[in-house]
Amino acid sequence: MMEKKKILLIGTGGTIASEMGENGLSPELNSEQLLKYIPDISGICKISCCQLFSLDSTNIQPKHWARVAEAIRENYREYDGFVIAHGTDTMAYTAAGLSYLIQGSPKPIVLTGAQKPIGFETTDSKQNLRDAVTVAASDMAGVMLVFNGKIIMGTRARKTHSKSFEAFSSINYPLLGMVRDGRIIRYIRPEARAVPQFYDRMNPRVALMKLIPGADCGAAAYLLEHNDALIIESFGVGGLPTYKAGDYYETVKAGLENGKVVVMTTQVENEGSDLSVYHVGSSIKRNLPILEAYDMTTEAVCAKLMWILGQTGDRKWVEELFYTPVACDILVGK
Ligand code: ASP
Repeated sequence: MMEKKKILLIGTGGTIASEMGENGLSPELNSEQLLKYIPDISGICKISCCQLFSLDSTNIQPKHWARVAEAIRENYREYDGFVIAHGTDTMAYTAAGLSYLIQGSPKPIVLTGAQKPIGFETTDSKQNLRDAVTVAASDMAGVMLVFNGKIIMGTRARKTHSKSFEAFSSINYPLLGMVRDGRIIRYIRPEARAVPQFYDRMNPRVALMKLIPGADCGAAAYLLEHNDALIIESFGVGGLPTYKAGDYYETVKAGLENGKVVVMTTQVENEGSDLSVYHVGSSIKRNLPILEAYDMTTEAVCAKLMWILGQTGDRKWVEELFYTPVACDILVGK
C-alpha cells in the first residue's frame, strides 16, 4: 500500500478560523482546532499543524508572506505538501507574494480559506479545507489557491465576490483544475524545478493608484515621492490623461528621473493592457522608460515589484526581471 503523504497545515487566521465576538468576527481558532472539524482528513494524508499568527488578512503584510515562506523553507524536506489557511480578503496578494518568494516548487503549496467560519452551521470552510488538503497531497506543483472547487494559479487569483462561496476567479489564465467529490480533475500541471528557489526579501515601498476621470496628478506626485515604485491602474488598454490636471506626463517623467519605477496597468479585469493602441498610451510608452503590466493581475504586479525591488534597484535588471515570466504570471510580453 502507498504510504500516506505528509502535509503541513499552516494557520494564519481569516474567517475560516473566526468566531463571533461583541464587535464582529475575529480569528480565534488555531490550525489544530480547525482540523478537529474535519476528522475524515486523516483518510487522505498524515497532517501536522503549525500556527504562525492569527490575523484578519486585512492586517497581513509582505513581512507575513516572508514568514510563511520561511516556515515552508524550514519544513520543505519533511513534508510532501503545504496548506495555508488564510483570510480571503488579501489571499490573492499572499498567493502572488508566495509565488515570487518560493519559485519552481515541485511540491504543492496551497492557500485556502472560507467566506463563513468553520463553526457556523452553513459554511464553506470544511469543503475548502478538504479540497486544499487533497491538492496538497497530489502531484500538482507550485503555489496555488483552492476555493469552491477551483484550483487557481497563485499569480492569477483575484477575489471577485465579497460574500458568495464562489469568491475567487482566475484572471487571464485558465484554471489549473477542479476538485469534485474529493477527486482532482487536472487541466494543467504547472512547470516545476527539481528544487525550489526561496527568497526572503521584499521591498514594500510599492504604491498603487487608480485613475478616475478628472483626477489631478497631485496624488501620483505624492506617491512617487514616498515610494520606490508606482503602479497606475488606468482605463481600458491604458493611457495617461493629457488634459491639464497638473501634468501626468511631467509628473511620471520626474519620478522616473528620480529613479522610481512606474508600471502602467488597467483597471479592466480581463485581457490586460496594450499601451501601443491609443495616442494617450503610445506617447508615454515611446518616450518614457515605464513598464507595462500587459496580462498580469494587479495583485501579481504589486508582489512582483516588491520581490524585484527586494533584490535590485538597477533599472535594467528591474525591467529584465519584470518581463521574465514567473509562475505563468505574464504571457503577453513586450
Ligand atoms: N476579513 C476576512 C479576512 O480576510 C475575510 C475572510 O477571511 O473571508 O481575514
